[in-house]
Amino acid sequence: MITLVQQYFSESAQNTPDKPAICCEDQSVTYLEAEAFSNAFARELQKAGVKRGSFVPFFMKKSVSSGLSILSILKADSAYVPIDINSPRQRFESILETTQAEVVIVNNHSEVLLKELIPEQVRPKTINIEAFTPQDTAPLEYRNLSIDIAYVLFTSGSTGVPKGVMIPHKAIIDYIDWCVETYHITSDDVVANHAPLYFDNSTFDIYTAFKSGATLHLVHDELNAVIPRLVSWIKEREISVFFCVPSVLTMLLKSRRLKPDSMDKVKHLICAGEVLPRDVLDAWMEMYPHIQFTNMYGPTEITVDCSYHIMQARPSEDCLSIPIGKSRNNMELFIRTEDGSLTQEVGAIGELLVRGTSVAYGYLGDEEKTQKAFIQNPSHNIFHDPLYCTGDLVKLDENGDFLFLGRADDQIKYLGYRIELGEIESSLNAVAGVSEGVVVFNDCDDESLREIGALVSFASELSLSELNQELNNRLPGYMVPTKVKILDGEYPRTPNGKYDRKKIKQIVFSD
Ligand code: AMP
Repeated sequence: MITLVQQYFSESAQNTPDKPAICCEDQSVTYLEAEAFSNAFARELQKAGVKRGSFVPFFMKKSVSSGLSILSILKADSAYVPIDINSPRQRFESILETTQAEVVIVNNHSEVLLKELIPEQVRPKTINIEAFTPQDTAPLEYRNLSIDIAYVLFTSGSTGVPKGVMIPHKAIIDYIDWCVETYHITSDDVVANHAPLYFDNSTFDIYTAFKSGATLHLVHDELNAVIPRLVSWIKEREISVFFCVPSVLTMLLKSRRLKPDSMDKVKHLICAGEVLPRDVLDAWMEMYPHIQFTNMYGPTEITVDCSYHIMQARPSEDCLSIPIGKSRNNMELFIRTEDGSLTQEVGAIGELLVRGTSVAYGYLGDEEKTQKAFIQNPSHNIFHDPLYCTGDLVKLDENGDFLFLGRADDQIKYLGYRIELGEIESSLNAVAGVSEGVVVFNDCDDESLREIGALVSFASELSLSELNQELNNRLPGYMVPTKVKILDGEYPRTPNGKYDRKKIKQIVFSD
């Protein structure tokens, strides 16, 4: 019986030892090689003090080494924490502080980078996975249980501090067993990993491949920087399962690189993470009728996806939005209506709340935010039964499908990234010289015109390029406002004194 996610891999290593397990650029390892290496490297981590309950960040570009890091960390009875290689110092330091990490895994390239980025006084011990020579490759005895944490993923936090979502092994197993069964993924499949490893869509790719003994092909960072090149990559690598954010489908469509035979081997194209535009989906379905398209939905806090909608036919002319569908097995969805009651009635509109085995444990080291977002099921007080309040507004249609209507707060999706505008605002207001700053998002239909902007007033001398530099030191590049206007005067406000974000948007994005 599988209780820990690394056991998926070990079982496949027995069934298909010589099969390529993880491939990236021109590197690859077989199941047997990766199994042996990760056994030995897990021991190395334990020698360095990693133990049950440790959080172990790994900091490197996507590579075979990052896949091996994940396996080794899990095998050392600890939880992995992927760190974006482009993380600015403050964000990285905040994650190190929250996780109390004593060890960070690096590779040849990132070791140098880490030393430049993190001052020695606050830098944990670094272990270079690429400088390690495996010796004792025998299997380990695990002490972890399925309720222990497998990974912590950091998402944007509205108060300026990223939130570390804690996901236990049982949550991933519940999700992955369902995915492999629903999409009939087998060892004959070739699964692509497009999402960054610090984004939870990657959970689908990694573990559906490891469970079924399929080959996992990682889309490396340079390839991802030029999206149209993905078309030939998918063909060359003979990808059969491709999971991505909808913006990738939009960009590929616009690139005009798609040929009738580009997706010959693709069986499943699964989208999640943001709204799937109807027309984009329709164009793809017309071009590739042999592919099964699915819209999946879910926040990181419920382990990737809690609902899904498999397209049985192309969307009709009058279809306004592609449903996020029905709950997956063992997850339950409720709508909290305006009066605060929970319902599953057709026609209901309100915030989506989710319960089930895959609900996260909350945010590492942040009890207050956890209490706010994860509430006890109000229908009983007999056992711990958390509901995650998604902040997403939905409607239940007459087919029993949930429709995504938008957000109840200032969280946005931009280029597939989940961003709290409040986090950008906190960073902006922390810059010396800024007296006040408001951040807005131009959420227009044309994705190429979407942009984050800010209206700023200065207290002292500060140039826009200095401001930009300061923000780049604090925030990942995709969060830094690309349009900044300086305000000379008062901020527009609503009658109740709040910022009038509609008017601010007009000011920032006019011209
Ligand atoms: P993340 O935690 O990065 O996966 O982001 C979760 C958020 O992305 C959700 O709360 C939604 O706002 C949005 N989202 C995820 N999947 C979908 C979908 N299929 N359609 C619309 N929005 C989605």
